Amino acid sequence: MGELLIKMFFGGFVRMHVLYHAVKEPVFGVEMMEELARHGYDVGPGTLYPILHQLEEAGYLRVHTEVVAGKQRKYYRATPEGGRALEDAKAKLRELVKEVLQDDPPSPSIRSKGRSPGPTPSPERTEP
Ligand SMILES: [Zn+2]
Repeated sequence: MGELLIKMFFGGFVRMHVLYHAVKEPVFGVEMMEELARHGYDVGPGTLYPILHQLEEAGYLRVHTEVVAGKQRKYYRATPEGGRALEDAKAKLRELVKEVLQDDPPSPSIRSKGRSPGPTPSPERTEP
């Protein structure tokens, strides 16, 4: 993933993604890096931790430390302000997606939710 792309766009996506999970449950750095990797973001500690600190300083995340297997682990949880910021960002994201993706063919995941009902293949019968 290009450095420039990360700086220009993905930083915002990552912030939003972190906030989304931190609203649902406390998250910690390594777990979040794995989650982001699962979605195709190659985000290392040098990128993620400054983002977590930024969100904390902005008042969107609250941090607490727990000892897990003898090691201190920092958990981040969204504050009410963080939750509101996420809702604002979601509204903007919805609007952006609507415009920016409107000319794209629907992705398979959208199609399978029945937005464009085509002929549905009947399941093959294997019994005699
Ligand atoms: Zn996720």
